[in-house]
Amino acid sequence: MTKPDTAKTPHAPQSLAGTTLDPADWNTTRAQGHRMLDDMFDFLENLRERPTWQPMTKSVRDHFKEPLPQLAQSLESVYEEFTKFILPYSSGNVHPGFMGWVQGGGTSTGMLAEMLAAGLNANLGGRDHAPIAVENQITQWMRQLFGFPAEASGLFVTGASMANLIAVLVARTEILGKITRKTGAGAEGAKLRAYASVAAHSCVTRAMDIAGLGSDALRLIPIDSSHCMDMSALQAAITADKKAGLEPFLVVGTAGTVDVGAIDDLKSIGALCRKEGTWFHVDGAFGALAAFSPELAPRLTGIEGADSIALDFHKWGQVPYDAGFVLVRDGVKHREAFATPAAYLRRETRGLAAGEFWPCDYGPDLSRGFRALKTWFTLKTYGTEHLGRMITGTCTLAQYLEKKILAEPKLELMAPVQLNIVCFRYRCDDSDKVNTEIVADIQESGIAAPSTTTINGKRAIRAALFNHRTQTCEVDALFDAVLSFGKKRDKT
Ligand SMILES: *Cc1c(COP(=O)(O)O)cnc(C)c1O
Repeated sequence: MTKPDTAKTPHAPQSLAGTTLDPADWNTTRAQGHRMLDDMFDFLENLRERPTWQPMTKSVRDHFKEPLPQLAQSLESVYEEFTKFILPYSSGNVHPGFMGWVQGGGTSTGMLAEMLAAGLNANLGGRDHAPIAVENQITQWMRQLFGFPAEASGLFVTGASMANLIAVLVARTEILGKITRKTGAGAEGAKLRAYASVAAHSCVTRAMDIAGLGSDALRLIPIDSSHCMDMSALQAAITADKKAGLEPFLVVGTAGTVDVGAIDDLKSIGALCRKEGTWFHVDGAFGALAAFSPELAPRLTGIEGADSIALDFHKWGQVPYDAGFVLVRDGVKHREAFATPAAYLRRETRGLAAGEFWPCDYGPDLSRGFRALKTWFTLKTYGTEHLGRMITGTCTLAQYLEKKILAEPKLELMAPVQLNIVCFRYRCDDSDKVNTEIVADIQESGIAAPSTTTINGKRAIRAALFNHRTQTCEVDALFDAVLSFGKKRDKT
């Protein structure tokens, strides 16, 4: 690396002995760091040799009861503990056998970018530096991907739960006016009503609660046979609420429900929102990135008309946790919901305190990490073409499993396979109990990690195929395991 000579200081470093946290010997740290990096590459390369998940033993659990460490330990010995007590007992979402819940698998690229980001230790609350430019570039890419205008604003957040909350707060401030941030939502706020389908993620309900509007102010609209929001029921609910003197202000459409991967009719929801004068938000936590896949993108038609979109790069996008994102069509409205003047955050026209876009004006966080970097590396090193192919591939794999289930009389498909989630069950008496046990049996066996969900009141085994590493061999292993554990459980 060449060093810019303008940055040279005339003073030699003279730290008080022992106060800095930098290593006394960089070479030892360097060698240890290289070992750790190599080990993680080995870990990722050989995941299939490990169980998907294994429960922590008592001694592992007890290991985390040590008191606050007072004295220094070597990096080497702490790393040794990591390899013994942490690495083997993580949840396994990196493993190709992981099919439980909606989680991404991460990548080696993302891992390396995380290391670089940690090395830079950038704080993306604001100011004038390249990391902010990287985050802004991702916003620009998301504008392009979803057909949003140049005034649209974007912000990295922990996950879609936070992104959905931000959308609710922006919609609330837009309808009640900026003054509501000072006065509280009050009597006007009590009249606000929002709408989402019963299949919407529970964090939407929680967002209403946290926003001070109350979870009761969210109407849960029934779904049709393909698990999409019933449009006539939505219209009826809005009409009835208006008649009752209430104020419908927000409709949340889901692009990819967690249970079965259904995509609401975003085009119709958008049209209805325009007619009724309500904010149109899309919870695209996992489904929005279907936009990378030429085969799947048409399913998202209508998303380009949304007022805001929540999405997660850490799910289908495979960016390491955490990397949620919110995109808001009108950046001014977004800013009005969060910006606050503070003397120590004074903006200047030049120097480091300059910068046009200060992310702290667009969400609740002031200090923020460099989530954008791992996303930037991921998008650049794979390109949307490869990412799109991987996303389509997870859906193809789901269809492969669906076919096997339909051909097996002992199994029952519980919902139409729309994207990459397959819900099914083992047919037997007391099937809720047996299927719950089958899932735990498979998880404990280490063969795979599916999860359970409830479809139409019945317990189902859910295989959510998000991990880019999962292949037909893992799906076959899951299938065989369900049949063999099912047979065992059914007899007892
Ligand atoms: C995962 C998910 C969420 C929650 O997102 P987090 O990133 O876990 O906060 C919300 N909605 C849907 C549809 C999801 O799949």
